[in-house]
Amino acid sequence: MTFPDYFPYTHRPGQAEMIRLVRDCVHDGRHLVVEAGTGTGKTVTALCAALEGTANSGRKVIFLTRTKSQQRQIALEARAIADKADVVCIAIQGRGPATCPMMQNDRELVSGTSEELSKLCATLKKGGTEAGTCSFFDNLDDAAVEACISFVRSSHPDPEEFREFCSVRGICPYEAAKRVLPYANVVSAPYPFFFIPGIRTHFLEWMGIGERDAVVIMDEAHNLPNYLRDIQTYRMTQRALDLTMKEADENKDPEIYEGLTVKDAVTLVQDVLRDALEQFLRRDNDLIPPGYLSEEMMTRLGMTTYGIRDMLMSMYTVGEAVADEKKRRRKLPRSHILTLARFLLAWISCGEGSHVYLVAGGDNPYLEAYCLDASDAADPLLSCHSTVSMSGTLRPLDVYVKELSLYDPVTDSRPSPFPPGNLKVGYVRDVSTKYDELNGSEDTYERLKRYVIDLVNCVHRSTAVFFPSYALMDRFIADGVPGMLGREIYYEKSGMPQSELMEQMVDFKCSEGAVLFAVTGGRISEGLDFPGKELELAILVGIPYAKPSAKQDALVHYCQSRYGNGWDMAVKVPAVRKMRQAIGRLIRSETDRGVAVILDRRAADLAGIDAEYMEDPVASVREFFVNG
Ligand code: SF4
Repeated sequence: MTFPDYFPYTHRPGQAEMIRLVRDCVHDGRHLVVEAGTGTGKTVTALCAALEGTANSGRKVIFLTRTKSQQRQIALEARAIADKADVVCIAIQGRGPATCPMMQNDRELVSGTSEELSKLCATLKKGGTEAGTCSFFDNLDDAAVEACISFVRSSHPDPEEFREFCSVRGICPYEAAKRVLPYANVVSAPYPFFFIPGIRTHFLEWMGIGERDAVVIMDEAHNLPNYLRDIQTYRMTQRALDLTMKEADENKDPEIYEGLTVKDAVTLVQDVLRDALEQFLRRDNDLIPPGYLSEEMMTRLGMTTYGIRDMLMSMYTVGEAVADEKKRRRKLPRSHILTLARFLLAWISCGEGSHVYLVAGGDNPYLEAYCLDASDAADPLLSCHSTVSMSGTLRPLDVYVKELSLYDPVTDSRPSPFPPGNLKVGYVRDVSTKYDELNGSEDTYERLKRYVIDLVNCVHRSTAVFFPSYALMDRFIADGVPGMLGREIYYEKSGMPQSELMEQMVDFKCSEGAVLFAVTGGRISEGLDFPGKELELAILVGIPYAKPSAKQDALVHYCQSRYGNGWDMAVKVPAVRKMRQAIGRLIRSETDRGVAVILDRRAADLAGIDAEYMEDPVASVREFFVNG
């Protein structure tokens, strides 16, 4: 079979092979799971290969991403490919300040969930109510849609350029992108567009295809199993219950079942939460019996399962009415009553095998039905013509395949195109952040501190110190370690707003030789690039194993009983992926050089880290840079 050649650049080592691999899988309708690190040009090779493999088939490429910057990258690569191929590429993003100009200056609307905004948007588009209409939608007439389609066909805009085009014409970029979808053969979208069932149905309809005509590419796929667990997890917090109580008051506390009111139901859940905290909570979170909440509701209210369900359905209707009333007044259609009804209905419907039930303490205690099984939500992938899962840190590939229950996939690991000597990874043997060791002896902690101080001070290079938790980072800070480094220090703090974090990063990158305190597995170690001399030394303090908790234990137990290797799948593999992501910040191009030192003897046993023992890490680091 002869395929077209759409690759727009001169091939770098390994790219022709990667294109062949992806193209053949796409053409043959296979699932591909591939690890390909930085420098392999994953975005352009996968996009190009998918277009070659779908040429003249009527199939479409859906490129799922986690970040807006990646959507831009896809658009730029599509533009480059367009010199050789017929590419119509559009990015779709959820409603938000960037895509819905109507909400841009409305502080209340900006905080809305996509579902709430979608409801309000539907009312405004339909018109005929007190809420009025949306001028950005009204301006989107046939001529404007035609203009958008021809702009995308001829200019291959990135998302920002498309929004600008819409802004000048006073039209809604979200609706305009939707109207371009049927003409596009490449669509980039955030994960929810494909994995949230209600959204997927509409999304594919707008594109004019069924799942069997979709070729789905997922980058940074190592995040997918956790994402899929998250979207099937349901949580109700103490604060949300307080807001529900307030909303019930504001709405004259409607009756929902034979004399019972919304406030009665909220009080009951608050009581159950308080009792569960007293009865079951011994750690940060702990298991509660699967039927605990439903049985408590039945016992305390003297009702049957059917009665409880009827009561919750009635509560749901009340919540919808509250939301509708707000919508009528052009307000964010949010209802805490509706959210509570949904939570309780989901809770009583969750499968016992796929979920565990938890209570957690802290500032804002909560009840949670935590999903253990990622594969249910991954089901739609199995109906697609072909899927490509790729990431720089996907190994061990069989773990990923099992978690998603992918059938008969092709798996491959592409070698790094960078000179191997540019990255040195080592570990030391006399420290560990193992709980007993770190908390059982001051010696270990003091040695860790000494290593960090000596390593940072031994060379004047931009350095990141990655901690396994904010708690340990805070302990270092409280003990005055930053003051012993004699360098400018920047921090990734827990809960730091994204804008503040980005400001810190801009300053860090501009200050050669500065030091960054961050968390392994945090926003910096997974999401930011530090090319060239912006980062040359990484110190990983310990192994970022998840803190022991009931939730973690349940996941280990689930993986053990289902796949036979619970600890590896649930604890070790995620920790190794986080470490590889952090180490990967050092090398972003073929000329970058960097050294990573892992302060934990357990690194020796971690497959996928490939660290060598450093008897004298300070000497090793100095030598690496002297020889560079
Ligand atoms: S049509 Fe567009 S601008 Fe208007 S409410 Fe909907 S998303 Fe917002």
